[in-house]
Amino acid sequence: MSEPQVPDSQSAEPDLPEPKPGAEPGSRTNLDPHVERYAARTAGMTASEIRALFAVASRPEVVSLAGGMPNLAALPLESLSEQMSELIAEDGLTALQYGSAHGVPALREQICEVMAMEGITGHPDDVVVTVGSQMALDMVTRLFCDPGDVVLAEGPSYVGALGSFAAYQAEVVHVAMDDDGLVPENLRAALAECEKAGKRVKFLYTIPNFHNPAGVTLAADRRGEILEICRQYDVLVIEDNPYGLLAFDGQTYPALRSMDPDNVVYLGSFSKTFASGLRVGWVLAPHAVREKLVLASESATLCPPTLNQLVVSKYLSTHDWKGQIKTFRENYRERRDAMIGALEQYMPEGCSWTHPEGGFYVWLTVPEGVDAKAMLARAVTARVAYASGTGFYSDGLGSRQMRLSYCYPTPERIHEGVRRLAGVLESEMDL
Ligand code: PMP
Repeated sequence: MSEPQVPDSQSAEPDLPEPKPGAEPGSRTNLDPHVERYAARTAGMTASEIRALFAVASRPEVVSLAGGMPNLAALPLESLSEQMSELIAEDGLTALQYGSAHGVPALREQICEVMAMEGITGHPDDVVVTVGSQMALDMVTRLFCDPGDVVLAEGPSYVGALGSFAAYQAEVVHVAMDDDGLVPENLRAALAECEKAGKRVKFLYTIPNFHNPAGVTLAADRRGEILEICRQYDVLVIEDNPYGLLAFDGQTYPALRSMDPDNVVYLGSFSKTFASGLRVGWVLAPHAVREKLVLASESATLCPPTLNQLVVSKYLSTHDWKGQIKTFRENYRERRDAMIGALEQYMPEGCSWTHPEGGFYVWLTVPEGVDAKAMLARAVTARVAYASGTGFYSDGLGSRQMRLSYCYPTPERIHEGVRRLAGVLESEMDL
C-alpha cells in the first residue's frame, strides 16, 4: 500500500508534545517585539521543542512513528465526493449558512445512535457539536478552571489536553496507570493529597479506551470504582473517548458516562472513525453544563461549520459507517501487529512496551540511563522519529518513555522504523 505524502512538517504531527512554559534564551520568542503584551496564560503556549525536527522528520526517508494522523486511505472518496456535490446542489443555502452553536439537530440525533454503541443513552438536546473534541477540551477547561485549579489526569496524558489545561493555567496532577489503566488507589491518594493541601480539584480528565499515549484500556471492573471515588470527592469526570470504537476485536466497553450520567461529561469525535479534517466532535453533558457549553461555543466560533456537520450527517445516513469502522479497525490491527512483532524482534534487553487492544499507540519504556528526549535528534539522523515521553507529562516525568504511533505508516515502514529505532537505542546503551 502506498503512503500518502505529508504536505508539511506541522500538519504531519498534529498532536506532538508541547514544551514546558518559558522561552529558551535565543529562541524565536525572544525576538518577538510583542513579548511584553501577551497575557500571562500564554506562557503555557509555546511551540514544540521537537517541531524544529519536523522538517527533517517528515522527509520521505524518515519513518515517522511520532504523529497521530489517522489513516484515511480506506475512505470511499468517490462516493463522498458525489455526496458533497449533492449536498451543495440540493441544500447549499443551508449548508453554506451560519447555524446554531448547539449543532445541526439531525446530526445530534445520529450522534446519540453512535454513543448507544457504548451503552450511552443521551438526549440529542444534551449533545453540543464542536470543532473536533479538541475544541470541547478547550471549552470544558474554560468553563471549569480558574488559574491554579487542579485537574487530575492520567500520567502520561494526551498532549492536546495538557495544552488546554496549561492555556487556562490549571495545575495538572498526574495519576499513575498500570496495564489496566488508571489505578483507583492512586486516584484516591491523589485526591486525598489535594484535599490535605487545600487544593481545589475541578475534574478528572480520563481517556479510558486505548489511551493516547499509553495504549492501555481501563479495566471494566475499575470503572465503577473510579466513578465512586470521584463522587465521594465531589469531582466531575471528563471522559475523552475518540478511540472507543476502534477495538481490534470489535468489543466495546461500557462508557463511564453510561454508568454515571450526572457526573460525567463525555467527549466524542468523528476524527478517528470517519474524517479528522472535517473537525466534527461533540460533548454530551449534564443539562445545565450543556447550556453553558453552547454559550462557550458561541463566543468561540459562533457555530461549528454547517457544511461539515451535514457531510457527517449524510455519511451516517447513507454509508455503511459501521462497516467502515470495521475496515479501519482491521487496518490498524495489521499495523499494531507489525509494530509489536518488530518490537519483539528488535528491541534490546531492558525495554518494555504496552500491548494496545485498539487505537493508535504503543508506549515504550527504554532502559535506565537512556534519555529518550535527548536521543530523538540522533534517531532522526538514523531516519526514524517518535514522540518523546516528557511532552505527555506536566511534571517532567517521561524521560525514559516514548510514544510510538502505528496508525499512519504501512506495516513495512513500521517494521523498518522499529528496526532503526532499536539500532539507535543499542548504540545509546553502548555509550
Ligand atoms: N483526545 C484525544 C485523546 C486525542 O487523541 C485526540 C486527537 N489526537 C483528541 C482528543 C482531539 O481529536 P479531534 O479534535 O480531532 O476530535
